[in-house]
Amino acid sequence: MNQQMAGLPVVVIGAGPVGLATAAHLLENGLTPLVLEAGGQVGAAVTAWGHTRVFSPWQYNIDAAARRLLEPTGWVSPRPTALPTGAELVAEYLKPLAAQLGELVHTGVKVTAVTRDGLDKTRTDGRDSTPFMVRTITADGTIEDVRARAVIDASGTWDTPNPLGAGGLPAPGEEIARAQGFITAPLPDVTGRGRASFANKHTVVVGSGHSAANTLIALGELVKDAPDTKISWIVRNASATNLYGGQDKDGLPARGMLGTRLRKLVDTGIVELHQGFTITSFTPGTHQVNVVGRTAEGETVLEADLVVPAAGFRPDLTILSEVRLDLDPAVEAPTRLGPLIDPEHHSCGTVPAHGATVLAHPEKDFYLVGMKSYGRAPTFLMATGYEQVRSIAAALAGNDEAANQVELNLPETGVCSADTDTSCDTPIMSGEKPTGEGVQAAGSSCCAAAPEPVLIGISTGLAHGRAGHEHN
Ligand SMILES: Cc1cc2nc3c(=O)[nH]c(=O)nc-3n(C[C@H](O)[C@H](O)[C@H](O)COP(=O)(O)OP(=O)(O)OC[C@H]3O[C@@H](n4cnc5c(N)ncnc54)[C@H](O)[C@@H]3O)c2cc1C
Repeated sequence: MNQQMAGLPVVVIGAGPVGLATAAHLLENGLTPLVLEAGGQVGAAVTAWGHTRVFSPWQYNIDAAARRLLEPTGWVSPRPTALPTGAELVAEYLKPLAAQLGELVHTGVKVTAVTRDGLDKTRTDGRDSTPFMVRTITADGTIEDVRARAVIDASGTWDTPNPLGAGGLPAPGEEIARAQGFITAPLPDVTGRGRASFANKHTVVVGSGHSAANTLIALGELVKDAPDTKISWIVRNASATNLYGGQDKDGLPARGMLGTRLRKLVDTGIVELHQGFTITSFTPGTHQVNVVGRTAEGETVLEADLVVPAAGFRPDLTILSEVRLDLDPAVEAPTRLGPLIDPEHHSCGTVPAHGATVLAHPEKDFYLVGMKSYGRAPTFLMATGYEQVRSIAAALAGNDEAANQVELNLPETGVCSADTDTSCDTPIMSGEKPTGEGVQAAGSSCCAAAPEPVLIGISTGLAHGRAGHEHN
C-alpha cells in the first residue's frame, strides 16, 4: 500500500445487514472499517419494513464473521429455524453487532458523493493510488469529507422505489403527490403503526410483486374491523397469469396460501382489481388524489386517499457520478453480475456465489454490495451479500486465494424445520429451483427448499430478452 493510503479506513456506506457484515470481515482481515449510516440507527431500512416477517430463517441471516464477533460477548443467537420480523433482525442481531463495532459505526451521517481526492472522473494519472474522498452530511447540515483507501457501497435501494408512471418515469403529478404524502413508503404497516391512516379510507396498491400481496392481505384484515376501508389494486399487465402464483398446486405451501388468500379477496370483491391499467397522471381530487390511468376501456380515474407503491426499487447512482462504474445497461448491477440475476431468467437461488472479481469496477477498490449490487433486480438474499463481502474483504487485504474461493453455503435441508407457518405475512417465494454451483437444488416441497427470494415489487422493465444465460 502506498504512503497516501496507509492508515486510511475502508469506508462502508450503509449499516444494514450487509454493511455491518462488511465491517466484521474487514476487521478479520486486519483492515479498519468506517461505517457511515444515514439513518438515526443501524438497520434504518430494515426498521422501515420491521413489521414484515422475512422468509429465510435466522441461520441464513447471520453472517459468519459477525457471529464470530458476537459470540464471545455472551450474545445469544436466536433460534436458527425461526423467521424473524425486520424489527427482530435489527433488535436481536444488527444492534448487538453495531455495539461490538462501537466507534467504527457512525449513524446520522449520509454520504452524498464519492470521488478520488482531487481527481474528477476524467483524470486517469495516479488514479489507483489516490485515496477516495467521501462527502458526508449530518442532520444539522454539517458537511465533512472523509478520506478512504477503499469504498464499499452497501446503501441498499430502499430509499429509491421505482416510479409509478409508464416507461420507468414518474407520471405527471406523481412527485407532488409523493411530497404531499398521498403516495406512502413501500410496505406500510397498515394494521399497526399506520392503522389510523388506512382504516375506512380508500387505498390504491400499485404493483404485482410480493410487497403488493402483503399490503393487500393486510388491508383485507383491516376491513374486518374497519368495514368502510376500500381497496383497489392496480396491475399494469392485462393478463392474469402469475398474479396469484400456483395457489394450492404450489410446491411451497406458504407461497401458495398467500396467492389463494389474495385471489379470495379479489373474488369476494374486497379488493377491486384493475388489470391492464397504466397510470398516466396523479391529480388533486375530491378525496385526496386522483389516480388517472389508461385501460382497454379508455381513461379510468380512481379517487384515492392513499397510494401504496409496490413497483420495486432501483439503485441511487447519483452519489457515484464521479466513480468509474461498469454497470449492466438493463439491470444496473455490476456488468458481470447483471446477466446472472436478470429476473427474466433467474431467481436468486440460481445465482452462483460471486465475489470480488465479479463485483469489480474500473474504479479500483470500489465495490457495490448487498441489495444495491443487484441494481433493479428484486431477488437479493442476505446470505449472498455476506459471501460478496467476505470475498471483497479478502481481496482488499491482498488475500487473492481467499477472495477467489467463493462459495455459498445454503445447506440441502433445514428450511423445513423453520417456523414457516408463523405468519401469513411470510412473503411469497420465487418458484425456480436453485441449481447453481455451491447452491443446493430445491425439491418440490417446502421441506427441501433453500431460502428463495422475495420479489420486492414487480420486476418492471426487465423483459429485455437476453440470450445465453446458462450460467448455472
Ligand atoms: C420486506 C423485505 C423482506 C425481505 N426478506 C428477506 C429475506 O427473508 N431473506 C433475505 O435474505 N433477504 C430478504 N430481503 C432482501 C434483503 O436481504 C434486505 O433488503 C436486506 O436488508 C438488504 O441488506 P443491505 O444491507 O444490502 O441493505 P439495507 O438493509 O437496505 O441497508 C442499507 C442501509 O444504507 C443506509 N443508506 C442508504 N443511503 C445511504 C447514504 N447515502 N449514506 C449512508 N447510508 C445510507 C440505509 O439507511 C440503510 O440502513 C427482504 C427485503 C425486504 C424489503
